[in-house]
Amino acid sequence: MNLSPLLLLLLISLNMMDEEPSKTKVIAHRGAWKNTNVPENSIAALQHAIALKCYGSEFDVHLSADSVLFVLHDHTIQGIPIEKTTAAELSKVKLSNGESLPTLESYLLAGKNQTQTRLILEIKTSQLGKARSLALTKKCIDLVSKTGVATITDYIAFDFDVCLQVKKLAPTAQVQYLNGDKTPEQLATAGLDGFDYHFSVLKRNEHWLSDAHARHLSTNAWTVNEEETMRWLINRKINMITTNEPEQLLKILNQQ
Ligand code: MG
Repeated sequence: MNLSPLLLLLLISLNMMDEEPSKTKVIAHRGAWKNTNVPENSIAALQHAIALKCYGSEFDVHLSADSVLFVLHDHTIQGIPIEKTTAAELSKVKLSNGESLPTLESYLLAGKNQTQTRLILEIKTSQLGKARSLALTKKCIDLVSKTGVATITDYIAFDFDVCLQVKKLAPTAQVQYLNGDKTPEQLATAGLDGFDYHFSVLKRNEHWLSDAHARHLSTNAWTVNEEETMRWLINRKINMITTNEPEQLLKILNQQ
């Protein structure tokens, strides 16, 4: 091979760029709601996260009694148990900003037509058993595909079997495990893409960050709202931080 010196230099530079760890990315936890005075997991919170140019906006998904997907965190809203209530009843629920309780479909469509902010879909663990968690998983993947947002959607879940099911049904999807009880080696062996652990887990197991990076696993921590912890994680080259304070984290990262 006869490479010109200029081409050789270009190839070496590209290789070095590849080796350089990328900057920590910001994920708005349940959207950017806290400093914008909108309800968490509302479409307005997602829109604020997009306006901030966050890398990702996280949200939580449950299944109604008649198997329609809704976005909210808790298992109940205004005293109504999500999994035991029909979609028709749930659609009457209003959030504090006047929005209807969002269906996953309306939420995904609101996040479509942009590529700046990834949709970080948390599949909640059903209170009605494993089969229903797995049914929820399949419904999420089908709807993400149907609405055309698969290329901007990543998945997180506390249930390890749910994570495995996502990889089985959507092998190219990025899946991070939330529960904090698996080593990077175990995640890599299982074929998952990385972890999203509570920051206290990473403070107790600091070597998991470097171990995960060496295995090309992605690293993320929740829910990091204090500057000291943000800086502790940034200094250890974490890939992503999930926070209720995306504005503050963006400011810290922009100063670096
Ligand atoms: Mg969540």
